[in-house]
Amino acid sequence: MPHAYPFLSPEQKKELSDIAQRIVAPGKGILAADESTGSVAKRFQSINAENTEENRRLYRQLLFTADDRIKPCIGGVILFHETLYQKTDDGKLFSQLLKERGMVVGIKVDKGVVPLAGTNGETTTQGLDGLYERCAQYKKDGADFAKWTCVLKITPTTPSRLAIIENANVLARYASICQMVRRHGIVPIVEPEILPDGDHDLKRCQYVTEKVLAAVYKALSDHHVYLEGTLLKPNMVTAGHSCSQKNTPQEVAMATVTALRRTVPPAVPGITFLSGGQSEEEASLNLNAINQCSLHKPWALTFSYGRALQASALKAWGGKKENGKACQEEFVKRALNNSQACVGKYVSSEDKGAAAGESLYVANHAY
Ligand code: 13P
Repeated sequence: MPHAYPFLSPEQKKELSDIAQRIVAPGKGILAADESTGSVAKRFQSINAENTEENRRLYRQLLFTADDRIKPCIGGVILFHETLYQKTDDGKLFSQLLKERGMVVGIKVDKGVVPLAGTNGETTTQGLDGLYERCAQYKKDGADFAKWTCVLKITPTTPSRLAIIENANVLARYASICQMVRRHGIVPIVEPEILPDGDHDLKRCQYVTEKVLAAVYKALSDHHVYLEGTLLKPNMVTAGHSCSQKNTPQEVAMATVTALRRTVPPAVPGITFLSGGQSEEEASLNLNAINQCSLHKPWALTFSYGRALQASALKAWGGKKENGKACQEEFVKRALNNSQACVGKYVSSEDKGAAAGESLYVANHAY
């Protein structure tokens, strides 16, 4: 029988669970603004903006300085390394600004996916070496939570057992390192992202999601991770992008909540979905249906959207200074919509936003 040697003090546990709960307080979710420089390049290319450090700063400044309507909607913001050290025009660190606005600062800490040899194109995620030291520095520099993404693919032969076990274990190792950080730790967001690529149906996605999440929670238990001080960031259960059969938000919600209820312990305070290439509107409607689903749901169910919070805003900005206000207005709109969706009160209106209906699907996507 394994024996647990306690590694977190009551103060550490309290800080971790307080941080996690602040991020997913009712009506709040996460803005994922942690696109790597390479991912920003693709986004900026779509609006003909140059991918310079200054343009990245200007764009993110627009999001972070949107007016106070976003305050009850955004509990946390995930940043990329570069952004954590960038400042507003008047010299205030973004991390400081976000904190003053009541938002918890997060940081992407994984170093991307690498091939898993001997598999059919599957991957694991690297970045464990030196992770404790990096997290300790990030904590000093204002970050209170972190994100690490692992990617799994659905094909007739995947995800393999090896990919499921390896990715669950690396997520658990990352989570335990985050929680150990001096002066009360960093809340790990555990993100096993099952890509939407493929023609599989809803049932197959649900089956795979259950197997992946069950393995993740077994590994988190093996690594003595304190679940109350974590958040889960999964995909919603949806049919593959190329599946001919389309499902209603209610069907997506039932499959998603069923899979989560079978695998995620109630000790986890919140589940913050990625948008995974859904359009802005789809991501809001599905989140709303999930919160309206009649099954008992012991966790907060909210958003941690990148593309589905930013597509209309990015389009409205178009890389031009004079469009700053329009960009912010689009971002506020999506933030308000998703804030309503995460309490099951979203009602779709005509005024949806510049790119609300556009598919944001990117094949074989990596952040
Ligand atoms: P999307 O919402 O764009 O899928 O991204 C969220 C994210 O942070 C993925 O790691």
